[in-house]
Amino acid sequence: MDARAALLEIASLLERERASRYRSKAFRTAAAAIDGLTQAQLRDPALGSRPGIGDTSLTVIRQAVDGRVPEYLADLRERYAPETSALRKLLRGDLHSHSDWSDGQTPIDAMAAAAVALGHEYLALTDHSPRLRVANGLSPERLRSQLPVVRGFGTGSFTLLTGIEVDILEDGALDQEPDLLAELDIVVASAHSLLRMDGPAMTRRLVAAASDPHTDVLGHVTGRLVGGDRGTRPPSEFEPRPVFDACAAHGVAVEINSRPERQDPPDELVALALEAGCLFSIDSDAHAPGQLSLIDYGAARAEQLGVPAERIVTTWTLDRLREWTARTR
Ligand SMILES: [Zn+2]
Ligand SMILES: [Zn+2]
Repeated sequence: MDARAALLEIASLLERERASRYRSKAFRTAAAAIDGLTQAQLRDPALGSRPGIGDTSLTVIRQAVDGRVPEYLADLRERYAPETSALRKLLRGDLHSHSDWSDGQTPIDAMAAAAVALGHEYLALTDHSPRLRVANGLSPERLRSQLPVVRGFGTGSFTLLTGIEVDILEDGALDQEPDLLAELDIVVASAHSLLRMDGPAMTRRLVAAASDPHTDVLGHVTGRLVGGDRGTRPPSEFEPRPVFDACAAHGVAVEINSRPERQDPPDELVALALEAGCLFSIDSDAHAPGQLSLIDYGAARAEQLGVPAERIVTTWTLDRLREWTARTR
């Protein structure tokens, strides 16, 4: 098999686990180091002395060049064999992802390439907003300079959508200039701070965010963490019904965040949102190319919880998605 493709697939599979960040990076570096080399050059005994190629990468390259599926890759494939639900096959894209412009691990082109490889018709790049300094949130100027870059990644059958994961401020206002939000294809609004504020205030905050004319998706609504290297965090306290009623009234999609450490919203809240008549968006919240495939978890949960495909905006065609996001622009 192609050695560079093997290295990139290994990196992608490792990225599904947050803890493997540095290991996955080593394989991406090795893939870049052999980019453009001929088969003869890949067979060169001195290959291992090139910068960026470690022992494990070298073994992978050798086995690939010999026409085998490298053992390291075969093991990972077995470990992460996706259980593809029927719903997963209906998903056409993803509305929540990050690049190294904020706290993602790779440049935009690697995210776009991975989305194309997954067969996505669209991916929204939604880097963080200014107040989230720990995540290198984008100032209005940086976001403006990102837009032409994002728009440059379209191919015939794939569109990279402009977007933002905008912080929901303490009073429910959104952390970016309204005119700039109006220009974006996708606005995901999420709370990242003051997650422990008292219930009534949190309810007002989320209702305000869901009622903002710029909001398309309400991101990881409870903020809970159920495991992983950041530990656990209980869900924020709020009254879910008014929040979901606001989403339904304004056509805002409730995000089903696919990250295994989030699984947000919890099952009972997905059921409430269904009852309230909400739309949903199954998103990866990927911070690395390999994490785009995490939507298989979100799809499996949504299917199990009986969310109809029709109510999931990421099963829609790009044209229909654009009509939806244009509803309040
Ligand atoms: Zn977030
Ligand atoms: Zn995010």
